[in-house]
Amino acid sequence: MYLKAIEIIGFKSFADRQRLDFEKGITCVVGPNGCGKSNVVDSVRWAIGEMSWKSLRSASMIDIIFNGTARRSPLNLAQVNMIFDNESRKLPLDFNEITVSRKIFRSGESEYFLNKVQCRLRDIRDLFLDTGIGGEGYAIIDQGGVESVLSASAEQRREMFEEVAGVSKYKAKREEAIRRLDRVDLDIARLSDTVVLLD
Ligand code: ATP
Repeated sequence: MYLKAIEIIGFKSFADRQRLDFEKGITCVVGPNGCGKSNVVDSVRWAIGEMSWKSLRSASMIDIIFNGTARRSPLNLAQVNMIFDNESRKLPLDFNEITVSRKIFRSGESEYFLNKVQCRLRDIRDLFLDTGIGGEGYAIIDQGGVESVLSASAEQRREMFEEVAGVSKYKAKREEAIRRLDRVDLDIARLSDTVVLLD
């Protein structure tokens, strides 16, 4: 499984639709200062579900939409499509190619798509669990990232290994199950109160 291409439309400095195709192996993005190299990485980070606009070096989530230049009007929509080669079936969907898309409108509304079918952010997070891709994953390591791995506490480092080893998927499911059990306990307690009252 690898990221085969990304399409960026109206995201930050990319007003027009841009498609970047990646070969297997190493790709370097080069260009003068301020030409948008980091915006390419931000677009990937955003499409896999980044919710913090600060991590995207933005003043707000809406601010990631192309906000115009002296010659061009601002746009009302930003969209990023990530096209993954899935011949290895590492992503648990039975398709050779999987497109994950995220859209945001100036109204602030966000939409997510899996192979062009609208879905929830949660579906995208579930798709990437165990792959190292995702908000908590290590597929994207920024300039300060290497330093933070080196200076992490033993506990934080264990969390990183758990994510990489695929343990965190089960931890997340376990936490969800515990939350549900807690809710059931509350319901039972409420029911017992009602039974006592009726007695
Ligand atoms: P450097 O080499 O200095 O790190 P870079 O090539 O990584 O630069 P980026 O930081 O990716 O450049 O891009 C910065 C450019 O993106 C700036 O010119 C900035 O004005 C532009 N930009 C950021 N957000 C938007 C937006 N919402 N609309 C239009 N342009 C934007």
